[in-house]
Amino acid sequence: MRPARQTLRSPDELIAAGLAPRDRLAELEQVAARYALALTPDVVGLIDAADPCDPIARQFLPDTAELDVQPQESADPIGDDAHSPVAGIVHRYPDRVLLKPVHVCAVYCRFCFRRETVGRRPALSRAELDAALDYIRAHSEIWEVILTGGDPLVLSPRRLRDIVGRLAAIEHVKIIRVHTRVPVVEPQRISPELVLALKAPGKATYVALHVNHARELSKAARAACARLVDAGIPMLSQTVLLRGVNDDAATLGELMRALVECRIKPYYLHHGDLAPGTAHWRTSIEQGQALMRELRGRLSGLCQPTYVLDIPGGHGKSPIGPGYLDRVGANGTAHYQVADFNGRRHVYPPAASASSRR
Ligand code: SF4
Repeated sequence: MRPARQTLRSPDELIAAGLAPRDRLAELEQVAARYALALTPDVVGLIDAADPCDPIARQFLPDTAELDVQPQESADPIGDDAHSPVAGIVHRYPDRVLLKPVHVCAVYCRFCFRRETVGRRPALSRAELDAALDYIRAHSEIWEVILTGGDPLVLSPRRLRDIVGRLAAIEHVKIIRVHTRVPVVEPQRISPELVLALKAPGKATYVALHVNHARELSKAARAACARLVDAGIPMLSQTVLLRGVNDDAATLGELMRALVECRIKPYYLHHGDLAPGTAHWRTSIEQGQALMRELRGRLSGLCQPTYVLDIPGGHGKSPIGPGYLDRVGANGTAHYQVADFNGRRHVYPPAASASSRR
């Protein structure tokens, strides 16, 4: 495989880099005509081209399975549009909004939940950005603004400084959270200047890193994350549960431990969204719950993400288990049964009633 010097954006470039055989050109072009394609040199450097099941390659190389769209899949699987009062804003929960200044990313993940928009829509115009900020300013219940997209860290430090500064000037906005894949897929972008641009006096900036496999946390990626954390920016992670990439306890456990070692708190493990052409990525919810049980049994509490499902239609995220507590029996025999980390069940008494406490 030839080392890539620049981002690969076409099937021809993938073939020239040794990432796909030439006889697959026609099918790759079919997929690339439908969904955006980009692999940075850092991502290409992580791929083991000799391994047909390489978990990094699988996440970024087009596959004809993406053309198989299931009836339950949707162009807007988490219902962003239903909660978008102005361009670039999604206001689903009372105390926070998404602000999407760009719809491009450094790489395009083949399972992306916004694959119908990323790489296809233009960035917000100046006037649209002004209107989005006006919306945030006019809604005093907005405590947190989540910069997402696309990937906001593809913006220059100058543009990020402008957006963060304008958000920070809004009194009721206290938290600025940035969702990004850049520290792992283009770590050199996390320059001291960019880190500085994310910080605003009197406000807290968090960075949530999208990462799905421990191998994505290369030496350069770890150094990029350290630049953020050392600057006082706490980091969280979000991982998508992906068949053939991280759907076993050893792989997930290794990732969660690596994150904690990098001072990144595992936050969410997302069940795969119903994005078009992504059925081949999704596990069952029961598999996800079994994996979470295994993680609970073998890893420190610091390494436990919350397993969540974004309810289709825009109804928000819900934790989907597994559950450890059942209430059993009735009246005088009612009690709880709680499972320990080995799966053994134990009895816990119900609370004493008010009358029996007097
Ligand atoms: S970086 Fe995020 S928004 Fe961009 S393609 Fe990947 S999952 Fe989608």
